[in-house]
Amino acid sequence: MYKYFLIQHPNNILSSPIEYLTGVSTIKGDLLRKEINVFTFKDLLEYFPFRHIDKTKIDLINNLHEGMDYVQVAGRVVEKKIMGERRAKRLIVHLQDETGIIELVWFQGINFVEKILTTGQAYLVFGKIGFFMGKPQIAHPEIEIYNSQNATGKSFLEPIYPSTEKLKARGLNGRQIAKLTQELIKKISTKDVPENLPHNLMLQFKLMGRFDAFTQIHLPANEINYQQAVRRLKFEEFFLAQMSIQKLKLNRHKNSRGLVFEKVGNYFNEFYEKFLPFSLTNAQKNVLKEIRKDFGSGKQMNRLLQGDVGSGKTIVALLSMLIAADNDFQAVLMAPTEILAQQHFNTITSLLKEMNIGVQLLTGSTKTKNRKQILSGCENGEVKILIGTHAVIEDNVVFKNLGFAVVDEQHKFGVAQRAKLWKKNDIAPHVLVMTATPIPRTLALTVYGDLDYSIIDELPPGRKPISTTHRFENKRSQVMDFIKEQINLGRQAYVIYPLIEESSKLDYENLMKGYEEVKSFFPEPKYWISMVHGKQTAEIKENNMQRFVNADTQILVGTTVIEVGVNVPNASVMVIESAEKFGLSQLHQLRGRVGRGADQSYCVLLTGQKLSNDAKERLRTMVETSDGFKIAEKDLEIRGPGEIEGTRQSGALSFKLANIVDDRPMLEVARNAVADILEKDADLELPDNQPLKTYLLSIKSKTRWGKIA
Ligand code: ADP
Ligand code: MG
Repeated sequence: MYKYFLIQHPNNILSSPIEYLTGVSTIKGDLLRKEINVFTFKDLLEYFPFRHIDKTKIDLINNLHEGMDYVQVAGRVVEKKIMGERRAKRLIVHLQDETGIIELVWFQGINFVEKILTTGQAYLVFGKIGFFMGKPQIAHPEIEIYNSQNATGKSFLEPIYPSTEKLKARGLNGRQIAKLTQELIKKISTKDVPENLPHNLMLQFKLMGRFDAFTQIHLPANEINYQQAVRRLKFEEFFLAQMSIQKLKLNRHKNSRGLVFEKVGNYFNEFYEKFLPFSLTNAQKNVLKEIRKDFGSGKQMNRLLQGDVGSGKTIVALLSMLIAADNDFQAVLMAPTEILAQQHFNTITSLLKEMNIGVQLLTGSTKTKNRKQILSGCENGEVKILIGTHAVIEDNVVFKNLGFAVVDEQHKFGVAQRAKLWKKNDIAPHVLVMTATPIPRTLALTVYGDLDYSIIDELPPGRKPISTTHRFENKRSQVMDFIKEQINLGRQAYVIYPLIEESSKLDYENLMKGYEEVKSFFPEPKYWISMVHGKQTAEIKENNMQRFVNADTQILVGTTVIEVGVNVPNASVMVIESAEKFGLSQLHQLRGRVGRGADQSYCVLLTGQKLSNDAKERLRTMVETSDGFKIAEKDLEIRGPGEIEGTRQSGALSFKLANIVDDRPMLEVARNAVADILEKDADLELPDNQPLKTYLLSIKSKTRWGKIA
């Protein structure tokens, strides 16, 4: 019948198919599977109510007021009438208690409800209160005959479950789902939901037992029990996620073989002594030390390097690549866009121009003849450093001995692409992923928990803070005057338009309009403007960009294609049009394009007059701070975890109960607890860790079964 039956675990009632539960017909079972992914008893047990209602409380009708949500009243039906025609047809019932009258309304099932309700009879009524012309009203309430028993017999908080239209239509509304979970809880006992956390840990953090937590989250005896149940289950979610991430990392450290780069040789030393244009910041030195340690460890390096825009990640990458070359290994540097790859290539070849080392650029637009040469250079080992877009990991690129890969702006690369890299050598090359997308540290450790983590938390000396202002669009001409002043001082400026969707016609129209407008302020031949956007061919884009880099044009009008990495130190003004349409991290990235030279730089955020609260908050944050990590915190606060770039599909953030923003202190505690356990008892041999070990084995064996089926 269902695939599922094949992989049913015979010993545990929780793996029973949902149809085995009293009250679940084949049709309902089907719906539960399709609508809410409930296949088994276990799935239902983990289908949590979104709220509870205290049904022991009866509200007096007179006391009902706006701002109340679900209410329960008791009273007699004093009137019922069917009103309106066809679609406007409805049943209106008046219910009266000793304090007043409330209106109950039905728009569906009118005849049926009308028939079962008896005038003069007392009912217990429950539902969501609304106010219609100041009068209280409940639409489609739950209703039952009132007797002293049903009013006082309920000593618990009643759970309300999320349901769907289809489920409701088949008799599975939130309340009926509650009946199912009650049925389920009656059937199970502690042995079906064995404890999986170490006893010491539970004592230390005062955690409720697992079985109790599952029963109390559904049917709590009181509010405190409910809170404790939620707390315990959230902790478990964080704990188990951390356990799997940290074990993965531990295993990688233990089992993976890595290429050994034993020495620092001529390439590195010559460059460091003769051509390094500045001295490294302490943060850069520290990261370099961490990388060198990994290189020598005999284990494969998988390291995430976070550093704010302009913190100088490129030079760290270059120095590391030189160490690879010193050990007779090749290195690649992969960038997410052509422009960025080109720019890395320009930077690096110019830094290395006095040195004799093969550096090549490979992108989608590399000409065939050139490409052939580069490919053979990779194969015979002449190319020591290959820079490019993801073209460098395509199957036709064969290396003689690839030892090290740097991935810049990693969030644009998928995990699959990273995996491709690993296969480029018999022993997987060392990998360094770099990102300027600021992510708070706790989050980084969760999302990229399988990577080791380095951070450059210091900007090169002498940077002047960028002055950021917010202006309304009606001040545009003043802003243009300001650009003019700056240009007359010999500086350059960016004017950036939002491109919400690559294909959006409207966005392009706005860009073109903007371009014309800027042009009217800055007429040729006194001024020159380049335009860069995603619809141009790589060649045109590159050409226009290059003119700006060479200072042949003073203004660059463009979309966010320039967002990542572009480096023009002479540019001192960044104007962001419709800034309210950008996310915080994007604004921060864009602003990071200026302030790269010795001059004072400016960022102007232009917006319309009408701004949402979130937009105001974003703009305020930008004006107040230029610290990427503070901005990341704010971003997380405003948008929530689901939206962090690159994390959406990672699964690392999808918890049923826990919320990575609100519950971050708990995440921290869980992470440390796991680290502590693994440090003392990596193989979980201690008696206290047996429940955990047994649990982990049980979920592991289930996945394997699943795969066989
Ligand atoms: P990002 O981390 O954003 O990739 P880059 O590597 O592009 O930053 O560096 C930004 C700028 O800072 C470059 O012009 C680079 O040459 C310069 N830079 C990097 N490190 C230092 C340093 N230690 N001292 C001075 N300038 C530096
Ligand atoms: Mg960079």
